[in-house]
Amino acid sequence: MIDFSSDTKTQPTAAMRQAMAAAEVGDEQAFEDPTVNALCARVAALLGKEAALFAPSGCMCNQIAIAALCRPGDEVICDASAHIAWFESGGPSANAGVMLNTVQGERGRFSVGQVTAAMRPKWRHCPQPSLLAVEQTSNLGGGAIWPLQQLREVADFAHQHGMRTHMDGARLFNAVVASGVSAADYAAPFDSVWVDFSKGLGAPVGAVLAGSREFIERAWVIKQRLGGGMRQAGILAAGALYALDHHVDRLAEDHANARVLAQGLSTLRGLRARPEEVETNLVFFEVDAGVLGFDAGEFCTRLAAYGFRMGAFDARRVRAVTHLDTSAQATSELLAAAARVVAGVA
Ligand SMILES: *Cc1c(COP(=O)(O)O)cnc(C)c1O
Repeated sequence: MIDFSSDTKTQPTAAMRQAMAAAEVGDEQAFEDPTVNALCARVAALLGKEAALFAPSGCMCNQIAIAALCRPGDEVICDASAHIAWFESGGPSANAGVMLNTVQGERGRFSVGQVTAAMRPKWRHCPQPSLLAVEQTSNLGGGAIWPLQQLREVADFAHQHGMRTHMDGARLFNAVVASGVSAADYAAPFDSVWVDFSKGLGAPVGAVLAGSREFIERAWVIKQRLGGGMRQAGILAAGALYALDHHVDRLAEDHANARVLAQGLSTLRGLRARPEEVETNLVFFEVDAGVLGFDAGEFCTRLAAYGFRMGAFDARRVRAVTHLDTSAQATSELLAAAARVVAGVA
């Protein structure tokens, strides 16, 4: 089975496993793990921040940042499609006691005008926004990249109105490779930013959250509270360091494969794909049950019979993701299988 359902499905390569096995390790939560320390220093520098911490997951980075930057009863302004709104089990309310004030952006990206419209009166009866959060790239926005200027505009607006700013950079390196804008430039307008190593970068576990020294000190308290303190985590950090050395530039291949995939899908009967919208490694497309006689879930089931996995988001929408373990060859084979599925070939 070749798994196009997510870039979290990558297997650590033999060379990455070797680097992990050879890692020097220590007690992470006592700052005694040299490999974790090296990873944090490297990511902080890459993102242009003073300090960073290593966390088991991106979800935990979001949860830490929200809890560190907001008080219970505050609001977080984010896009309606945000991971923190959809896929973190209500964490912002459960862990930080905040409300989400969501904005209907364009493929995950919103404007200053939309943030302005979402602002409530500065009045003690109203929850006050203390954080503005963005996702680079936007996951449910189909891997759309926020232009640097638009990020600066919304972040500047937030700061002018007394808010802090947070970037969920689960796929920040996809944006960096696709646009040529540096990670530090994208991160600059944000008080907190994190990157994931278990997505397209192909490491098995881990994310790094960065910000000012003061922010990371506070973030460590929340990380401890959430049970995120680790021990000999250098084994994991070594995979992340390996990924930084070997798996960043190659994201361009994933983007090229995603474009080929969307282009190919757009030519198939009963599927609606928009190759012109594919900017990185995510491809969303629709299955027209009126034409094909089956829905997105059934499309995926039939495709699986050919050895390819994708995920149906709902009855209409499918998400396909290219990554380290989906080659150009696999992409063209997938397209051939999809052509057979829509043609009703058993
Ligand atoms: C995957 C993802 C997360 C969560 O990261 P995990 O490492 O899976 O916990 C957060 N935000 C976005 C946009 C993601 O795609």
